[in-house]
Parts: sequence; C-alpha cells; structure tokens
Amino acid sequence: MSKYRSVRGMVDIFPEDSRHWQFLENTVAETLASYGYGEVRLPIVEYTELFTRGIGKATDIVEKEMYTFDDRNAESLSLRPEGTAGCVRAAIQAGVLNTPQRYWYAGPMFRYERPQKGRQRQFHQIGAEAFGVASPDMDAELILMSARLWRRLGIAQGVELQINSIGSSESRSRYRSALVEYLNQYVDQLDEDSQRRLQSNPLRILDSKNAGTQALLENAPDMSEFLDAESADDFSILCALLTAAGVAYTVNTRLVRGLDYYNKTVFEWVTTRLGAQGTICAGGRYDGLVKQLGGRDTPGVGFAMGMERLVLLLAEMGSMDMSSAPVADVYVVAVGDDAYKVALSTVESLRSEMPRCRLVQHTGGGSFKSQMKKADKSGAQVALIWGEDEVSAGTVTVKPMRVEKESGERLAQQSCLLPELPAVLSAALTID
Ligand code: ATP
Ligand code: MG
Repeated sequence: MSKYRSVRGMVDIFPEDSRHWQFLENTVAETLASYGYGEVRLPIVEYTELFTRGIGKATDIVEKEMYTFDDRNAESLSLRPEGTAGCVRAAIQAGVLNTPQRYWYAGPMFRYERPQKGRQRQFHQIGAEAFGVASPDMDAELILMSARLWRRLGIAQGVELQINSIGSSESRSRYRSALVEYLNQYVDQLDEDSQRRLQSNPLRILDSKNAGTQALLENAPDMSEFLDAESADDFSILCALLTAAGVAYTVNTRLVRGLDYYNKTVFEWVTTRLGAQGTICAGGRYDGLVKQLGGRDTPGVGFAMGMERLVLLLAEMGSMDMSSAPVADVYVVAVGDDAYKVALSTVESLRSEMPRCRLVQHTGGGSFKSQMKKADKSGAQVALIWGEDEVSAGTVTVKPMRVEKESGERLAQQSCLLPELPAVLSAALTID
C-alpha cells in the first residue's frame, strides 16, 4: 500500500457513494429554491480574524478546532469551520443588506476534532441564511423549510425538532450570572471541561455530555425565567406559528449553541438513530452578527445541516436505495478495428440523441468473450455488439442482458439496421 494516506478525519467519496450525495444535494437545492433562497458560493479560506470576531474567542471552534496558518505574506488565514461568518462577510462586502436576502450555500468545512462516526475534520454542510427580517415568521420559515426537506428525503419519522430562546445579550448575561452562582457551589463535581467553561463560556456547560454535570444541571436555574419580554414574545409567536403549520417541536430550555453569535431562537433537529452524533441540523437567530462584523445593524437567522450525518441517516432509514448501482445502461462491444470505428461514431451520435442514457464503450480491445464478460459485469441492460458480420451488413446486434421480472426470461437478441437503432434501443431499455 502507498505511504500516502488522506489526512486523518478527511475522507474520499467514490461514485457508489457520491450518487447518494447528489440525491441529497439536488433535493436540498430544489427545496430551498422553492422558498426563494439563492445559492452563494464562498471562499473556503478567510482571514482568521473573521472567525475569532464572528464565532467568538471562547468557543470550542476558535479555541481548539481551527486550521489556521500564515500565508506567504504573513497574514493569518483559516480554513472555514462553518459558513455563516463568511456568508455575512460576503453580504456586507457586496453591499446587498439594504434589503432582505435569502441565501444558501454548500461545501466543505474544517474542524480539528476527534474523528468518529458522523464527526470528521473535513465535513460538509448545507446552510441557509435569511437577512433583514427580525420577526419570528422568518424563523418559522426556515424551520418549515427544513421540515419539508426531511419529508422529501423520507427521514421525517426519524428526526425531532428542539427549540429554545436564549434571549437578548442582556437577558443572557443575567442568566449567566445566576448559572455561575449556582454551579460555583459544585465546582469540584463538574467535569474538567465544564470547570474551565465556568470562567470562559458558562452557558456551554448546559451542553455538556458528562452525566455527572447533567445531573447537577437538573436543579440549575432555567433560562426561560430570565428572558426579556421581546424574546419571550417572539418565542411564543414562533411556537404558535409552528403549531399552526403542524410542525411538532419540543422546547428544550437547555439548548444553547456552540457559537457566540446566536440570540433569541435556537433550534436543532436531532435523531436517536446515529448514536452520539445525533444533531443533523442546527441553527438560530444572530441579530448582532452583521454589526459585529462591521456591517449596518441587520438581523439574521439561519441553519446548517451536516451532510455526512444526513447520508448516514438516509442509509439507516432505508429511504434511499444504497445498493450499488450499475455503471452503465448500455455496454458497447466491438471486436476488430473496423468494428471499433463504426461503433465509436454510431455511439457518439446515440449520445447526442439519448443524452440521459449511460453508454459505456468497451476500451482496450480483447476477444468477444472477454468484452461480453465486462458487459455483464457493468450491469448494463443492453449490450450493443459489432463484429465483422455486423460491419459488412451495416447492422448492430442488440442483446438484452437482464432477465424479465415476470417470466424470468431473457429477451431475444435482434439484429438492427443502424438508422433504426435509437428506436430499438429505447424500446429495449424499457424492459427490466
Ligand atoms: P456538534 O455538537 O455535533 O459538535 P456543532 O454544534 O458543533 O455540532 P454546528 O456548528 O451547529 O455543529 O454545525 C451544524 C451541523 O453540522 C451539526 O449539527 C452537524 O450535523 C454538522 N457538523 C458539525 N461538526 C461536524 C463534524 N466535525 N463532522 C460532521 N458533521 C459536523
Ligand atoms: Mg462541535
């Protein structure tokens, strides 16, 4: 085996798998477009400061997960760990935030984490961001859009919506004091990470996976009691909108997000079917972020979903045929140089007439028998065969390769004149 391996936590995706990704990407793109979201394509590398300012210095991402390096000009750059900061930067830079905007993006993100199922160092997200609308109808739209997506993907039965409001920064800082005061009584019973966070980012303790810490949190003060009036109002409007739209949800007052920019509504779509990495989509409001990054005060709300986890869930729920697909619809066998030339030009014009048909031409020569073996292996429904006889008669042999479902019989092969080939082939391809 070669000594070159992919970087730990970064994986290659081959055609058997990429077709599942394509199905996911196409379904997402169609669904988001049906709500008026337009795709933005953004750089993978940004100035590091964008993320330290945007995501927050005391977050896990900025503290220990970023891929940061100096370029040749000694400027600190980072591979993007998430998409929102870059999207906000781009929107400010382009000067498009004087009117509401709906955007989506897709692509790789990078975080130095411990690789495990559903957690990689290069992973992929599709995210949506809506700028310029402060009212909770926008939050509802994003949640409805994601709910529709789960239905279209056939995974709605496997996911659950959790929502919370983390309020304004004032209400959060009042809550933070109360939480710190409460947890200070139990410092030595907290896990190590949480002890550290007690100083740097106490709200993140609510997120701790440690059972002992979770038990202590049972009696901790509840965030909902510290909400400012506006956040509480907005949250009840959102709940009412979701109920009216028939979207089920659970209010989880411990739900916080790992990035500093969130305020008011936060939400997560979670599943119990993937083990520890159960969050497939997460988002919320970030009304202060545009201003924080130097733009005019503009509200925003968005979400990002983890594509690796979605692909795993699609497989887990059997909502997609994960068996390996044939690589060809038609396999072209040609024995001898003359036959190959006729085959080549005929198949080229077939591709013009049947652009969706996958016509794989045998390459590399070989005997009839060895070419037919390849035809069989390709999983093609039909083989087109050219030998000396066909070339001199101006015909091609059309040989069905699969058996018919009902009778279990293989259809007879036929000889066909070249002008008739498109029609004969179309008919042959409709059988199973
Ligand atoms: P987690 O708690 O699982 O670490 P997070 O809160 O850090 O997630 P976000 O920053 O909100 O995640 O990203 C949104 C989504 O992107 C997550 O819900 C998840 O589906 C996916 N995601 C995040 N980090 C990774 C990763 N390292 N590998 C694969 N998917 C990821
Ligand atoms: Mg994380």
